[in-house]
Amino acid sequence: MIAIIGAGISGLSLAYFLQKQKIPYLLFEKKENEHSPGGFIQSVREKEYLYELGPNSLLCDDFLLQWLNELELWDEIVEANPSSKNRFIFKNGKYQKLPSSPLSIFWNSFFSWKAKKQIFREPKINSKTFSEETLTQFFERRFGREVVDYVLDPFVSGIYAGNPDELLLQYTFPFLAELEQKHGSIIRGLKKNKLERKKSISFRNGMQTLPKKLAEKVKITYCKGGVQSVFKNINSWEIITAEQNFKAEKIVITTPAYITADILQKIDFFLAENLKKITYAPMIVVHTIFYKNLFKKPVNGFGALHPYKEKLFTLGHLWSSSVFEGRCKENEVLFTSFVGGSRGVEKTLLDDNTLMSKVQKEIREIYQIDSLPILQKITRWQKAIPQYDKFVLPVYERLPKLEQENLYICANWKDGVSIADCIKKAQKLAQQLK
Ligand SMILES: Cc1cc2nc3c(=O)[nH]c(=O)nc-3n(C[C@H](O)[C@H](O)[C@H](O)COP(=O)(O)OP(=O)(O)OC[C@H]3O[C@@H](n4cnc5c(N)ncnc54)[C@H](O)[C@@H]3O)c2cc1C
Repeated sequence: MIAIIGAGISGLSLAYFLQKQKIPYLLFEKKENEHSPGGFIQSVREKEYLYELGPNSLLCDDFLLQWLNELELWDEIVEANPSSKNRFIFKNGKYQKLPSSPLSIFWNSFFSWKAKKQIFREPKINSKTFSEETLTQFFERRFGREVVDYVLDPFVSGIYAGNPDELLLQYTFPFLAELEQKHGSIIRGLKKNKLERKKSISFRNGMQTLPKKLAEKVKITYCKGGVQSVFKNINSWEIITAEQNFKAEKIVITTPAYITADILQKIDFFLAENLKKITYAPMIVVHTIFYKNLFKKPVNGFGALHPYKEKLFTLGHLWSSSVFEGRCKENEVLFTSFVGGSRGVEKTLLDDNTLMSKVQKEIREIYQIDSLPILQKITRWQKAIPQYDKFVLPVYERLPKLEQENLYICANWKDGVSIADCIKKAQKLAQQLK
């Protein structure tokens, strides 16, 4: 018997893959979440509006598309509109389209000539990766400062809501460290290993369609307040909940680091103390809807990211109604804006009205709109995204020892935060547990 703690996308996927291999499992989730499975993945439909409170899309390769088909979700999939390959960055006071192919870097005016020269010189730069190198150190060394400020920085905000000066290359983007090691250059490495084409998708009724479907297919044991702690017996583990204790040979923990700390406190104090130190970036998601006819230019594309250097209020805006169909009425535009991140903690302390007013003011200034929005909605995530910075190191060092005792981690604070990463980690672990 394998006990899985937490029924977010990691736990649900793991239970599904184990079930497929006919391995018995117990999947624990808090009773409070009985009617809304999926952890951070939450979609809310209110009349004609579909709001994603957490993740907005899933980047799918062929394996994931096949898996969604196997889950009978094929007819529910909505693909991102082709125009969403257009991504914008706020640079020198205005939105500029990011070059979408290597050749267009050359003729596009996004980068200065100095930056273009540095990018094309990258294959000639010696590789000298060192452990604990940050993303900024790596990108500055290989591509120069402009790429750090206007490509790396906004993308790290977009994925991790994090600070590239703190995040470690080896854990955040291990494939880049590997490309440098193997090929001596990122550009050369990418030429030799073409990246698999991926599709950005969602579902007709939003991202939560996926965990809801998985929750129908697997069995979840709901318990009040969730799992409290675990104990090791001679040949098995004991899982303690408020109502009942359970036994299992192996345990997989999928909960956030700070909750994992509480669960493991009594069996490994040192690990628990270090788990508590793992940094989480806070994030506030603000949905804002305007009438379409107020915009002088169509809002066509994936959205726009705001580099830290440009000092805007938000980290960026997703143009949700342009990316996916059916998010609001035809004559409206829905923006999903992100506020906070690890360098904007103080902004997340503002009250709802101030936050919403600052977001709509920023949108109105950028898009030159005189009128107020039709409506706004706010969602707060106090601990949204784990940061792969130096604080993860003592925890990662300890994990192999736990595996020897049949306790495994399959959580978003290790080896990738994206939904795709969570599903693939679960699939890999299910194979390992065979
Ligand atoms: C605002 C935001 C936007 C994002 N956007 C994207 C995006 O567009 N695309 C993308 O790919 N990713 C995105 N992500 C990241 C992605 O959503 C998460 O990394 C992923 O959903 C994490 O899933 P998980 O199952 O590992 O963890 P969680 O979702 O945290 O699930 C953990 C589960 O454990 C349960 N639990 C907690 N305590 C206990 C306990 N004691 N006992 C039992 N169960 C317990 C929780 O209730 C929860 O269900 C975003 C994240 C945020 C916050």
